[in-house]
Amino acid sequence: MADPIILKVAVPVPLPGLFDYLPPDGVSTASLRPGCRLRVPFGSKVLVGVLMQLTAHSDLPRRRLKAARALLDTEPVLPPGLLRLVSWAAAYYQHPVGEVMEAALPALLRAGRPVFQPQTVYLATTAGMQTDLHQMGHRAPRQAQLLAAIRQAASGLSRADVAATAGDWRGALGKLLQKGLCEAVSRHPNCSAPPVASSPTAGPTLTAAQQQAVAAIGAQLGSYATFLLDGVTGSGKTEVYLQVISAVLAKDRQALLLVPEIGLTPQLLARFQKRFAVPMAVLHSALSDKERLDAWRRAASGQARLVIGTRSAIFAALPAPGLIVVDEEHDASFKQQDGFRYSARDLAVLRGRHENIPVILGSATPCLETIHNASKRRYRHLVLPERPGSATHPEMRIIDLRAHAAQHGLSTPLVAAIGKHLDAGSQVLLFLNRRGYAPALFCSGCGWIAPCDRCDARMTLHRARERLRCHHCGRESRVPAHCGNCGEALKALGQGTERMEETLQSLFPGTAVARIDRDSTQRRGSMHRLLEDVHAGRTQILVGTQMLTKGHHFPGVTLVGVLNADQGLFGSDFRANERFAQTLVQVAGRAGRADRPGEVLIQTAYPEHPLLQRLVTEGYTAFAAAALDERRQAQWPPYSHLALLRAEAAARDAPLQFLTHAAKLARQIRGGGVTVLGPAPAPMEKRAGRYRAQLLLQSAKREPLQQLLRSWRASLGELPGARRVRWSLDVDPLELF
Ligand code: ADP
Ligand code: ZN
Ligand code: ZN
Repeated sequence: MADPIILKVAVPVPLPGLFDYLPPDGVSTASLRPGCRLRVPFGSKVLVGVLMQLTAHSDLPRRRLKAARALLDTEPVLPPGLLRLVSWAAAYYQHPVGEVMEAALPALLRAGRPVFQPQTVYLATTAGMQTDLHQMGHRAPRQAQLLAAIRQAASGLSRADVAATAGDWRGALGKLLQKGLCEAVSRHPNCSAPPVASSPTAGPTLTAAQQQAVAAIGAQLGSYATFLLDGVTGSGKTEVYLQVISAVLAKDRQALLLVPEIGLTPQLLARFQKRFAVPMAVLHSALSDKERLDAWRRAASGQARLVIGTRSAIFAALPAPGLIVVDEEHDASFKQQDGFRYSARDLAVLRGRHENIPVILGSATPCLETIHNASKRRYRHLVLPERPGSATHPEMRIIDLRAHAAQHGLSTPLVAAIGKHLDAGSQVLLFLNRRGYAPALFCSGCGWIAPCDRCDARMTLHRARERLRCHHCGRESRVPAHCGNCGEALKALGQGTERMEETLQSLFPGTAVARIDRDSTQRRGSMHRLLEDVHAGRTQILVGTQMLTKGHHFPGVTLVGVLNADQGLFGSDFRANERFAQTLVQVAGRAGRADRPGEVLIQTAYPEHPLLQRLVTEGYTAFAAAALDERRQAQWPPYSHLALLRAEAAARDAPLQFLTHAAKLARQIRGGGVTVLGPAPAPMEKRAGRYRAQLLLQSAKREPLQQLLRSWRASLGELPGARRVRWSLDVDPLELF
């Protein structure tokens, strides 16, 4: 007797590996194709899994294997390229493959909903086509009318169409079916012709650098290559994407564009829609389950030619992929920071290789890993050095806060510059990466500072709502009138955006000041209104957080002030410098996009900081070279590879105890060249009432680290103390806390 066929299934449970099943009763082997969904018994439940492989052998004895209950698809929901990506990602990020599927499949498909809801349509049979309608009209006018309509519709009439045609349609339709004059056929609604859109508009004439970039990428269509498209903000990167995408569409292929969470603005969508007028699908985290399934269907059926989305769109099913673009590839939102911790940017490169298509990574401030890959010639480096037209680069200058006293966070030279730009009729943008009124509430009598009792952090004062709020755990409390220790009055210490708004209003009376941060944009549509006021010139001064730096263009802004550069210069993380430089350059890029030159003023108490100097005098590329050199000396990525094991618990000692066992195990398994660092408490040990600690693995090469992780990960759950903590493994962590 031949070996039975064993189905290897990815089941949505937090356990590694695939699970073995026997085929469902009465299902032919030929219809069991990898990528199809199956309903499978699991413990006391029935779950929806995805068939990954068919084999002849199982490690389990035959009698212990259960049969799958049902096959849910006739066609794979995940095409082969995507199945490969999912398997690879599960292995590389050491994450249960069933949970990786959560990123790849819309919730409704994971719940077993049909991929395509087939629609019934009515078509005329040969007999129906030959019937004499005139004669029929005498005896059965309704049937004749309906049959005429059905004969005319080449692709058939749906029930709704039928209902709209004839009066007593149920009876007439029943008769036609009975007589064999028409027949019911089921059809995929997505196979209908795509809606005809208005004619696309043409783009501007490209600059020489843009032309070169478009030509280089265009020559690579149909095979794999990764391009770093490195160009300052406003240098025309999006224009390059548009041109390359247009070539991809002309070859009848689909393009996938990934953008940062906050970069997916209606303006961006409108720009693409206007240029191409092809059916698009948009995938982002704010969609309802139904909307997500809808967008997924449009991409997966091939109807959508252009798919735009945030991080998880890297798993969009595409029958005819031709290009992947990652815009603002340095953006941290491409890395998922909880659950399945993957980098959509890195997976884009991998998917490009699997699917044999080009990948574009675009940024004004590429991440150091990407620059390193370009210098090693793994990626091709394309540079857009200038802004098209007359727009010039903003000029950066440092204001030494030790030489110029700052009042309420504003130095005299900056106040003077703001006045000058306002007088010239321009707009001013001030960047302060701290929302709220003040980052601390302080007692001048005894030095007490209002703490969060659930975190190792201070409470932020929010004046508009008269509350103290912890930005780490969300805890809120009322603002005490006096110090609980000594009874003295309490003072707001430091500057938040809310306070800066107040200061600016009193310094420049009669000037419209707007604040853009997470608090001021909470309500739906408020961001849109704030931006509209800026664009219409109703707002003269904009003060805001990081939110301002992404994707928005403010052509009327000629002065950018960075109020506190020092926050970013001295982070505890090895990536702090890089992130700071990126933010600074991105903020600066908001200025002077039109015909007026921009000016950027940076307030700092450390003007001689070497990396800041490098950035201001020589620009981001020189900064990146210097920062990479520091990374090399310290053996941080990209000169090494990291994996971070985090643990947290309500009991203070539990995380460190568990991690000590984990460290011991790693040292026992340790292959060549993996260093085990720690365990140590996290930089902010207590957060939201839980204590946190971490263990870092570092390796010069990827493979030995991956090898260690494979056996280590499998044993972590069995270690003493594993059940007392919540632990997670982060491969290529972006943040070390
Ligand atoms: P980036 O994506 O690098 O920020 P964009 O592609 O958005 O740059 O271009 C910035 C602005 O310059 C846009 O308004 C765009 O329409 C315009 N632009 C881009 N390329 C050209 C060009 N070759 N000629 C004229 N205008 C251009
Ligand atoms: Zn006090
Ligand atoms: Zn807190």
